[in-house]
Amino acid sequence: MIKKDKTYSEIKLKYHIKAKKKIRYDLQCSSCKKRNITLGSRCIDRKGKINYFCEDCTIYFYKQDNKFRTLKAAASRRRRIFDVAYLFEEILMDKYTKNKNYNSVNDLSGEEFQRFLNTAHDLYNTLFTKEEKVALEEVIEQKDIEKKISKKLKGIEF
Ligand SMILES: [Zn+2]
Repeated sequence: MIKKDKTYSEIKLKYHIKAKKKIRYDLQCSSCKKRNITLGSRCIDRKGKINYFCEDCTIYFYKQDNKFRTLKAAASRRRRIFDVAYLFEEILMDKYTKNKNYNSVNDLSGEEFQRFLNTAHDLYNTLFTKEEKVALEEVIEQKDIEKKISKKLKGIEF
């Protein structure tokens, strides 16, 4: 079986908008049993219990499930899932601040910012099918990803 070993360049983000809330509990990884982990993923088992996994274990599972040859290749590909979505938010944010005549992202109130994130999240899921997201994540050059996103956003009032 062919194993994937392509590594993806890191997406450079301007604002580092992260919708992910920091979880402050003492979480234990269900796989390696490490405590106080940074949450990598979670899943609900058949009994309805939530299992939490640390980042290292999450990347390991991702590598196995998707037949990557190295952890590095798996990590870089998995990173893309999040970073391409963040990149979408940033491009949308530029459009939004321009429309509102704001000088920067700092001009948004906390409430407006949260509203923006929610809308951006919905819009990303509306504009791109699952297959289109995968295709976008697989694009090598960041500027080509940006071009594809901008093209989708053309004509959308925000
Ligand atoms: Zn673990």
